[in-house]
Amino acid sequence: MARVALLLGGNEGDMKRTLQTAQRLINERVGAVMRCSHRYQSPAWGFKSETLFTNQALEISTDLSPIEVLEAVQQIENELGRNRAAEQIEKAATGARYSSRPIDIDIIFYGSEVIREERLTVPHPLLAEREFALQPLAEIMRSFRHPVTGVSVGEMLDAVRTAEVVTE
Ligand code: AMP
Repeated sequence: MARVALLLGGNEGDMKRTLQTAQRLINERVGAVMRCSHRYQSPAWGFKSETLFTNQALEISTDLSPIEVLEAVQQIENELGRNRAAEQIEKAATGARYSSRPIDIDIIFYGSEVIREERLTVPHPLLAEREFALQPLAEIMRSFRHPVTGVSVGEMLDAVRTAEVVTE
């Protein structure tokens, strides 16, 4: 059994509904959902978009291997309307690396394993830079330490947080 952290996100359609369906399918096919963050909204990252992104972090317990988890979550993305061909066209038109999508499911941590394969890099390589990922993740696993850097999720979040608490 491995504890796996997933980050779900998207910016098209009814995100509350899509995230609920994704969570149900993950629970049925990938592993039991142990913890679930609130939904967080933030502006698109890496490209211009009128609509906000919604992100949510889940911690699951699974018997699947890392690649099996990847294949299962990609299948769920496809069923929930993700169209990679349309995204390629949008990216080519805008020149951006990212595009709108109804759902994206990333594997952030797979226990404390470090995986560097062609199809899969875990921990997710851009985690430490992404407030939109760290914020929901910190809600469910604040003290979990990155297996390579040793920095906790809460410490990574504090390092990238843009808003400051006003004390006066
Ligand atoms: P995206 O378009 O953001 O969904 O990127 C998907 C691609 O990233 C897939 O082809 C995956 O094989 C690859 N990938 C590499 N590492 C990860 C990860 N930790 N979680 C999800 N996808 C990953």
